[in-house]
Amino acid sequence: MLNRELTQLSETSRSGNQVSEFIANTFLEKQQDVEIMSGPLKDKDKKKRPMSQIVAVKKPVLSPSLAPTQIPRFGVTTLHEGLLATEFEDINRWGLDIFKIAEYSGNRPLTVVMYSIFQERELLKNFKIPADTFVTFMMTLEDHYHTDVAYHNNIHAADVVQSTHVLLSTPALEAVFTDLEIMAALFSSAIHDVDHPGVSNQFLINTNSELALMYNDASVLENHHLAVGFKLLQEDNCDIFQSLSKKQGQSLRKMVIDMVLATDMSKHMNFLADLKTMVETKKVTSLGVLLLDNYSDRIQVLQNMVHCADLSNPTKPLDIYRQWTDRIMMEFFTQGDRERDKGMEISPMCDKHNASVEKTQVLYCTMQVLSTGCMFSKPL
Ligand code: AMP
Ligand code: MG
Ligand code: ZN
Repeated sequence: MLNRELTQLSETSRSGNQVSEFIANTFLEKQQDVEIMSGPLKDKDKKKRPMSQIVAVKKPVLSPSLAPTQIPRFGVTTLHEGLLATEFEDINRWGLDIFKIAEYSGNRPLTVVMYSIFQERELLKNFKIPADTFVTFMMTLEDHYHTDVAYHNNIHAADVVQSTHVLLSTPALEAVFTDLEIMAALFSSAIHDVDHPGVSNQFLINTNSELALMYNDASVLENHHLAVGFKLLQEDNCDIFQSLSKKQGQSLRKMVIDMVLATDMSKHMNFLADLKTMVETKKVTSLGVLLLDNYSDRIQVLQNMVHCADLSNPTKPLDIYRQWTDRIMMEFFTQGDRERDKGMEISPMCDKHNASVEKTQVLYCTMQVLSTGCMFSKPL
């Protein structure tokens, strides 16, 4: 059905064609071979990103000896603690202003949101995570998001964490997930785009990048985000999972890998089809709560939850959604400029001289509402 809609759209106009290409490229797995860019890369493009790139280059920002009693209320020192506290009143709401949280926390939205949610859900206590270790890890992780990338930065990561937190509290899922599963979903959200370079998987593949070589063109970015996220746990005073049993640690790692790999947009349609089957055959307890009695069903819901949170910006209040749209378009256009400079074909929606922002958003929202609506019967 989607293919038919896309064909019709592409026949309507040039911008329609571009939008349909964008949707097909974004939401569907590539069926045929891609044409790899020929010709040698220029020296400046040969950025060194070998396997050792996973190594965290930046040092932890807090002294490992910092006592838990010295940790500020939101995990970081800020001149605007009062304003931050006011914004945090919305921490359990769909519509929290994450941009204000970023501003009032001194651009530490990821650290403060994770710290607050882990405290509220008593995860620090239940998994014996020292507060200083938690803050040190979170700040290190946050430092590995790129500040010069317009969309895939620490604010987006914080937004996905907070959105996942709200989705986890949906009444149909009450008491369904264990603390370990909840922690895995929040951790996945926090690391899910770390070290994102601001270009797509296809761009990395087409430019023969080190990352594409390393991961054999398969979910290149998602594999990298996972590797960096787990690698950073090995930095000084960063192992927030130090008190987990071996079994818990292994189980958490498997879930996180499954969740972050599921954020690859090219898997979207497959996940949606599986989810549809599950919803149609869903088992519900007498209290109206979902019955998920095996790993495959449980992880499927968790994967879709993080994925929905990742795509949720159009469902946020309009002023917030506008900021996300401006940012994603800015990032797309920056990639388009790089493609133009390299003499490559410009990816759909990435050509600033020929883009239909409105059509992209209408189609993107339709796809997104379909998937979110499928999962949550009530509007959020
Ligand atoms: P991620 O890259 O992990 O954040 O996956 C989400 C993808 O969804 C992004 O890379 C974009 O391609 C796409 N996306 C998210 N929000 C929008 C939006 N408002 N308009 C168009 N595409 C979007
Ligand atoms: Mg991603
Ligand atoms: Zn994302």
